[in-house]
Amino acid sequence: MADTIFDKIINRDIKADIVYEDEQALAFRDINPQAPLHVLIIPKLRIATINDIEPEHEALVGHLFSIARKIARDEGVADDGYRVVMNCNEAGGQSVYHIHLHMLGGRMLGWPPF
Ligand code: 5GP
Repeated sequence: MADTIFDKIINRDIKADIVYEDEQALAFRDINPQAPLHVLIIPKLRIATINDIEPEHEALVGHLFSIARKIARDEGVADDGYRVVMNCNEAGGQSVYHIHLHMLGGRMLGWPPF
């Protein structure tokens, strides 16, 4: 599998505004934010889409949600509310084939998304 732009961010080949990092995961602000808070939370292990998540990845994927909870507190959106979403493949709106949670907050979010 070819690297994506996110591998370059993990490897520091391109810059990103990183808000959280540990051995397994990285979180950074989206370059094209759709809300006052728009952070992408990714595993360092490249999993292309939700369809490629295997049972052995369950703890890692769960860990991404724990990071979202921490960032929500740190960024002050935990009580007002926020959204975490993962797009899958073309019809789901995925453009980077390395799974990532979008974390959006800081404004009222509409539903359903279009
Ligand atoms: P997707 O469409 O795959 O669900 O989301 C990919 C996201 O990655 C988009 O929201 C897009 O703005 C963001 N993105 C793409 N390239 C870069 C980049 O080089 N840096 C950062 N910080 N975000 C990026």
